[in-house]
Amino acid sequence: MTVCLLVHPDRPDPAERLVPVDADTPQVSVTDLGVTRGDGVFEVFTVVDGRPQAVEAHLRRLANSAVMVELAAPDLALFEQAVRRAAAEEYRATHAHELLVKLIITRGIEDAEPAVSTAWVLGFPNADHTRERRDGVDVITLDRGYPHDIAARAPWLLAGAKTLSYAINRSVLREASRRGADDVLFVSSDGYVLEGPSSSLVVRRGTRIWTPSTAQGLLRGTTQGCVFEEMAARGYATGEALLRSDDLAQADGMWLASSGRLLAPIRSLDGRAVQVDHALTDAINEALLARTD
Ligand code: PLP
Repeated sequence: MTVCLLVHPDRPDPAERLVPVDADTPQVSVTDLGVTRGDGVFEVFTVVDGRPQAVEAHLRRLANSAVMVELAAPDLALFEQAVRRAAAEEYRATHAHELLVKLIITRGIEDAEPAVSTAWVLGFPNADHTRERRDGVDVITLDRGYPHDIAARAPWLLAGAKTLSYAINRSVLREASRRGADDVLFVSSDGYVLEGPSSSLVVRRGTRIWTPSTAQGLLRGTTQGCVFEEMAARGYATGEALLRSDDLAQADGMWLASSGRLLAPIRSLDGRAVQVDHALTDAINEALLARTD
């Protein structure tokens, strides 16, 4: 079962703004700029027992991405309604404890007058991430090719927007696989650690928990935000920092945090073993799954 709702914020009748459609039949035009140029923005929500998590943080990030790519401001109330409805309906149909809801907004049909975005939400089962959460992931660092201050220097590169242009975020995973690893940590061309292709880095040193500063053109991770709240509740001090690759050698533990997979401990980085705190990882993942938004 895959619930799909087309979202039409501009329709005059509110009853026609969310339209259920068959996810297995084509719904998007071959001239849609989301398809032809990867021009648009998206979000993926973790859903637990039919309830989407960190909704406000996702919607805030969606609005920010829309500003960055110069799309019309999304009707956040309508998108929230769409996400909650897709999550609830997909749960009713599947009873899956963990689901995902993907929200997509494209720039719409090329050269359409007036320009109208295409938008939809899609509910579907989460993959089984038990192994990564329990055993951890092998990670390699890869050069992102930009200096760490690229967002300030060249905002047109859209670093820090969650755009549909994820071909690079996928190709680095194939590179990781070729090198026998599971995932990737991007490093700036001047040696600062950044984020994964679909995850935020979380680093523990003693009782302090760090994530690389989002001012470096990184996505503000919704999962990382929840992890910080859970860590703070357990007495850890949390914060953002500029971290150089060398700083990671002093870490007592590291994780990749993301919707869907949640907190995956890094068990090796570039082939070097990293300490894994299984008890802390399990406790935080359990807490994340128990959160009600
Ligand atoms: N960084 C990037 C580049 C991402 O694509 C994602 C999520 O897909 C994240 C970080 C983590 O964000 P979240 O925790 O909201 O899934």
